[in-house]
Amino acid sequence: MTILALEIGPTRFAAIEIADDVGADLVQRIPVPRDGAWDRVRALLLGIAAGRDVTAVGIASNGPIDMASGVVAPDQVREWQAGFPLVESVQKLFPAATVAMALDGVCLALAERHFGATQEVMDSLSIYIGDTIVGGVMVGGFVVVGRTGNAGQIGHVLVPGYDDRCVCGGRGCLESVAGGAALTKWAREQGWDGDSVEALAADAQAADRIAVAALERAGTALGRAIASVAPLLDIDRVAIGGPIATPGSPLWKSLHNAAAMHARLPFLTGLRAVSSELEDLGLLAGAGVIALTSQSE
Ligand SMILES: [Zn+2]
Repeated sequence: MTILALEIGPTRFAAIEIADDVGADLVQRIPVPRDGAWDRVRALLLGIAAGRDVTAVGIASNGPIDMASGVVAPDQVREWQAGFPLVESVQKLFPAATVAMALDGVCLALAERHFGATQEVMDSLSIYIGDTIVGGVMVGGFVVVGRTGNAGQIGHVLVPGYDDRCVCGGRGCLESVAGGAALTKWAREQGWDGDSVEALAADAQAADRIAVAALERAGTALGRAIASVAPLLDIDRVAIGGPIATPGSPLWKSLHNAAAMHARLPFLTGLRAVSSELEDLGLLAGAGVIALTSQSE
């Protein structure tokens, strides 16, 4: 019985075998390929399967996705822009396996619920900030999937006070302010000379003035977005992961200040935003959860 988890993430493709004794060191990862995307996914999965009978595959895919047809069209994979039948392709590769797919943010919320910071609560928001923002919502203990499978995209919630252009075509979305790519761009415009969100986070820890200001800017935008969403869903816990959201990051103070300033309703006094402990494994862990769940159905 071999169970696989696959991540079609914003910046990488990754896969792992789901078993009791596997660790993060066994994750196979590649940067998002410029071409031959399916061939690379195929090689990744066949490599881990190593000729064994695969009984289930869980997939966490960056959006947009179409849950009903199993077709994905993530922004970063150019050759899949017209829609790629990912579920069908994986199914053909392993005909005897159950194949289940969900949005990356849905998988993240499932991972936080089963293994992470939202295990003890019923209503929560899960966020991962890399170059982009991945988000998932849990209400009443259930992770919200949405009509087409694309619910939870807090990265495209509008943030008051900002008007930056977003990759989605809109303006003032959270991701266009607090996403790693946007933050890096903003910091460079202020004179910072790094080139990645990881470098920005490291420089902020080292008290670089511009890097700290960038993370404070992200914290303010996140706090406002969280304060906008929390009353709508009566949420009490927010788990945030990614390089800029480690414990002690300058992001937290401005985030807490902005959330406290705007989330003033009495039922929101217990609202807490905490650092995720899942590192960069949330999407794969959530894909593992849907693989196991699909098998027991
Ligand atoms: Zn947007």
